[in-house]
Amino acid sequence: MPVVIASDCINCDMCVPECPNDAISMGAGHYEVASDRCTECIGFYAEPACIKVCPIDCMTMIPAED
Ligand code: SF4
Ligand code: SF4
Repeated sequence: MPVVIASDCINCDMCVPECPNDAISMGAGHYEVASDRCTECIGFYAEPACIKVCPIDCMTMIPAED
């Protein structure tokens, strides 16, 4: 279940340094999560570090595709 960033992201950059996998970077219009790098922070933190710090709660976990 990678994290996705909604288009209302304000590009504040707060989530980027929190990611232990360097999965977050600036995309075309707002920040994006590389789904192949996001591990939901398993092995690093008890919950996704990026979601915790996002000031506008625009990051969500999506179910894995089968
Ligand atoms: S959940 Fe963790 S690994 Fe995934 S993007 Fe957020 S900080 Fe990075
Ligand atoms: S913390 Fe939230 S608002 Fe800030 S860049 Fe990351 S996703 Fe966007």
